[in-house]
Amino acid sequence: MSEPHGSTAVSAGSGTAPGTALLQVQGLTSAYGPVRALDGVTLDAEAGRITAVLGANGAGKTTLLRTISGLVRPQAGKVLLDGEDITRSAVEAMVSKGMAHVPEGRGVIAELTVDENLRVGSLFRGKVGKDEYDRVYDIFPRIAERRNNAAHTLSGGERQMLVIGRALLAQPRILLLDEPSLGLAPRIVAQIFGLLRQLVDREGLSVLLVEQNARSALSVADVGIVLNLGKVVVTDQARTLMADEGLRHAYLGF
Ligand code: ATP
Repeated sequence: MSEPHGSTAVSAGSGTAPGTALLQVQGLTSAYGPVRALDGVTLDAEAGRITAVLGANGAGKTTLLRTISGLVRPQAGKVLLDGEDITRSAVEAMVSKGMAHVPEGRGVIAELTVDENLRVGSLFRGKVGKDEYDRVYDIFPRIAERRNNAAHTLSGGERQMLVIGRALLAQPRILLLDEPSLGLAPRIVAQIFGLLRQLVDREGLSVLLVEQNARSALSVADVGIVLNLGKVVVTDQARTLMADEGLRHAYLGF
């Protein structure tokens, strides 16, 4: 396999050497009643890399993130963070161990301002320094400009930046992102993915990115994993998957 981009990242964010498995998913199986959504999924998300999980509607991508972060209890399998088994940890414990999950849907409190949304989102952490809020505003200047505006006035892209910024206040080692591109114009998706890439390359953040928009996801990711009907079909370097026309047509819709 060829060297992924971002390979020179200093792992300030993850505390784990770039390229080693920060998050390990082993044989994860989850169901909603009789509906099996994940069927023995095994994958790694490496430190200081963007790992994209791709697949059609219903492939199990959202369930994967929800099971990793403890919102869905698995029927079988394990989740390890830096070698520690966190499979049945409480959600708060996962956050304190360095995992932040940004669910699909950009949940913000519509009546509160951008600034208030950031503060509410970081309440569980106790005191958060001004420099930490400033850092989020530095990363997302568009959000800084709108810090006193009610969240319901934000565009979809701005909301996405706000929820990612709020997750960063938890100082995660790994960010789990569910469909951040949903409903956004390609230009805005490229902007948000570019910012993510910078966080990974400059600060050593690790990202597990779930996306139906495979083309955009593969253009920013280091590694791609294709899910179909709850199973991993293939794992490879993003550029290799991008070049595989048969796979793209069969599973990725482009
Ligand atoms: P999407 O992009 O549409 O969210 P996905 O790849 O994220 O798709 P999941 O949402 O994880 O897929 O769904 C995987 C399977 O589990 C599908 O068959 C889906 O219908 C089913 N499923 C998801 N959520 C529930 C639920 N709350 N109750 C019952 N079945 C569910």
